[in-house]
Amino acid sequence: MKPEERRRVGRLANDLKQRVENKLEEKAAEIRGRSLDSRAAQVAIDVSLPGRRAPRGHRHPLTQTLQDLVDIFRGMGFKVVEGPEVELDYYNFEALNIPRDHPARDMQDTFYVTDDVVLRTQTSPVQVRTMESESPPIRIISPGKVYRHDADVTHSPMFFQIEGLMVDRDVSFSDLRGVLEAFLHEFFGPETEMRFRPSFFPFTEPSAEVDIRCLICRGSGCRVCSGSGWLEVLGAGMVDPAVFRFVGYDPEEVQGFAFGLGVERMAMLRHGIDDIRLFYENDLRFLSQF
Ligand SMILES: [Zn+2]
Repeated sequence: MKPEERRRVGRLANDLKQRVENKLEEKAAEIRGRSLDSRAAQVAIDVSLPGRRAPRGHRHPLTQTLQDLVDIFRGMGFKVVEGPEVELDYYNFEALNIPRDHPARDMQDTFYVTDDVVLRTQTSPVQVRTMESESPPIRIISPGKVYRHDADVTHSPMFFQIEGLMVDRDVSFSDLRGVLEAFLHEFFGPETEMRFRPSFFPFTEPSAEVDIRCLICRGSGCRVCSGSGWLEVLGAGMVDPAVFRFVGYDPEEVQGFAFGLGVERMAMLRHGIDDIRLFYENDLRFLSQF
């Protein structure tokens, strides 16, 4: 180029270089800014969102029912006593006025460990053990597991029972009735009607089965109460003098009453459950409803 042209073109080239550099710088700044924004958007924490809670467990419906039952009797002054589940035949049967040849043994399909040792079929042995070691007055309940060779929609080979025992001077059948009525009104509601039906248990005399007016149909008859309008909920009676003699109490001096109920049955009636096996299958879809 000629010298004067060179100057002009040189200036133009410098301008051009400056403009390109400016544009590049501008673009780079824009890109840097954009990536900062998007990273900020990605890691943003919205502190106003509710947290994810860890799922919380709760007590099994049978445990809930058992505790409610125990609380009611505790409130009436009964003390909780527990005993062994593997029990001597003597405590499970003989001291309860059920000798070896007694037909009442057929009422309970027993699991025998040896000839003299059984899985307890009832919590009544705890009553005998308590009376052996304590003197009247006695007011206890014994909750716990019991075992019988039986399984269908209303029976399980292992189930929970609560038994109660009160021994003192001048304890009468009307005391028994009063305690059970107070209990049933507390558990099923103050409107609950009850009735006693004569029955037989080897360790009580007289004995009674206790019914309540059907919770489903209110007495008109339905499938749950087999059309009778009544539901059996308890067995009870006055302690047989023979049982007192086994533990060294004088039946002329003291009287007592005993009662027993099945915890599963109470839970089934309370929640309208018609198959006992649901309690033991550990299906969370069932258990989480309580
Ligand atoms: Zn009914």
